[in-house]
Amino acid sequence: MLTWIAPKGSEDCGDHDWYRADDDTALCYHCEIGRRDLDPDDRVTGHGIVKRDVPSVVSV
Ligand SMILES: [Zn+2]
Repeated sequence: MLTWIAPKGSEDCGDHDWYRADDDTALCYHCEIGRRDLDPDDRVTGHGIVKRDVPSVVSV
């Protein structure tokens, strides 16, 4: 588990930066709501997943 430099925000940070939380889930470094399921490719890749746009978390 990582040690946070600063508390994560409770609102959309607008610039999600994903890390792998477990085999099925990626979380955002910056905010609490940044969460998505990992794709099979991500599982293969392991940690350090590539950041990319996810429709469900697009900020306006
Ligand atoms: Zn975020």
